[in-house]
Amino acid sequence: MLESTMQDSQLTISSMLEHSRRVYATSRVLTFEGDGVREASYGEVGARAHRLASALQELGVGRGDRVGTFLWNTQEHLEAYLAVPSMGAVLHTLNLRLFPEQLAYVINHAADKVVIVDSTILPLLLRVADQLTTVEQYLLVGEADASALGKPVHAYEKLLADAAATFVWPELDERTAAAMCYTSGTTGNPKGVVYSHRSTYLHSLASGGGNTFNLSENDTVLPVVPMFHANAWGLPYSGWLAGADFVMPGRFLQAEPLAKMIETYKPTIAGAVPTIWNDLLTWIDEHPTDMSSLRVVPCGGSAVPQSLMKAYQERHGVRIIQAWGMTETSPLAAVSHPPKGYEDDEWPWRSKTGRILAGVEMRLVGESGDVLPWDGTAVGEVQVRGPWVTGSYHLDPDPAKFDGGWLRTGDVASVSPEGFIQITDRAKDVIKSGGEWISSVDLENALMGHPSVREAAVVAVPDERWVERPLACVVLRDGASASPKELSDYLEDKVAKWWLPERWSFIAEVPRTSVGKFDKKVLRAQYADHELTVEQLTP
Ligand code: ADP
Repeated sequence: MLESTMQDSQLTISSMLEHSRRVYATSRVLTFEGDGVREASYGEVGARAHRLASALQELGVGRGDRVGTFLWNTQEHLEAYLAVPSMGAVLHTLNLRLFPEQLAYVINHAADKVVIVDSTILPLLLRVADQLTTVEQYLLVGEADASALGKPVHAYEKLLADAAATFVWPELDERTAAAMCYTSGTTGNPKGVVYSHRSTYLHSLASGGGNTFNLSENDTVLPVVPMFHANAWGLPYSGWLAGADFVMPGRFLQAEPLAKMIETYKPTIAGAVPTIWNDLLTWIDEHPTDMSSLRVVPCGGSAVPQSLMKAYQERHGVRIIQAWGMTETSPLAAVSHPPKGYEDDEWPWRSKTGRILAGVEMRLVGESGDVLPWDGTAVGEVQVRGPWVTGSYHLDPDPAKFDGGWLRTGDVASVSPEGFIQITDRAKDVIKSGGEWISSVDLENALMGHPSVREAAVVAVPDERWVERPLACVVLRDGASASPKELSDYLEDKVAKWWLPERWSFIAEVPRTSVGKFDKKVLRAQYADHELTVEQLTP
């Protein structure tokens, strides 16, 4: 065995912080405030991160202590992203949209010692304040009467102004916990994923790489995806490492302000889930908006309909690129750039879920536990492993989620020989009709291509003859109309005939989870409780 001669220095967030604050000192962080932006340079944000760490230390935050953030995507949130892990504490991003009982659960389960809260959402935290057993103090960003929190509350700006200007970052092992994020808990209680400095550093490099989003200081990043949802897909760290400018949208996540932000502040890259892009599309179709600054728009979290990508590209010149991952994978694991040589025939590739990234190993496992080939046909569960993939959950081992060191993603897919994943369903959403799988994702994507359809969610419902059949729940565009027969005829040349749903329900909106995904278990329950009006098509 020959020893390498390389130095074994640690991949830490403090090294990312110090590098970019010096090298890209003039790069900018803009925070949108409704009518204009607040601006700070990397130099200033870096200096404020030092002050924040000093202040937190004064409040008694030490190594390994958890600091919760109950914040929008803002400059202050970025400061916490940088300062908390760098001082050896652990950043816990809290999902603002959790039900109160789940919010209390995750704060207590993670044992957050301090929570940084934005005054505009203080009422949401107040609802659970008396259930929090570990929080000792709060930092308040903005102004509000927060006395009802029942614990000492410190004004963020005042605390920073009074704090020591320099913090000496500790030398940390790169495997130390840096940040944690709970899954949205669509089944059961949320589970905590704890990222390390090393996993965050490697994920940031991968996410900035040429086959991923190719980030540089020439970029301006607009993270629309919340910083509490899988770290805004890592963009705050990867953007910072690249020295890119940021446009932080704050609480202005509706179509109109987003269009204004894009036109005025000219981001080159903007990440959000399909629902957000869908809403924005309706707006920009009616209110011409200059979208030309965007060079790439990562989109994922749920399947991205081809019709959505085509509408953006053909009508607005915007290139949406589908990506796949989960809280457990930091989250980026696959990105669907078309392979070399397919520039003129890229849609079949771009419509796939994503091509596996270097650094993430993937295998496909069949129902009987056998490893399946990457032949584009065999369908099984996607399993992954790698340095930014979780190997367990915080204080909750959940062995059923792991298979000999591989994370079981619960996503059912085929994989092409080139490593492109095509997800057909989440395991818990599959429709098995007469023993054969029907892909709800394919049906939804096809339906969403119909001009009258705004959204479609397809779920399995019990059927006497076939055990399960698909129920199509459709949200029509404002003022549009369509009958089940018309929609079924539209699907006829797009999916297998036996997939065509007999049951149709026109609904006002699709119920959503706390991170904005279709909540299919709610639709199944509504169907079971006869709360949906269902029209039956007879073949
Ligand atoms: P939760 O599991 O609570 O919904 P995550 O945000 O971690 O929270 O969700 C990860 C899941 O989202 C993946 O396992 C997959 O089912 C789904 N997903 C993410 N990206 C895509 C995509 N591009 N296409 C289809 N499904 C996706």
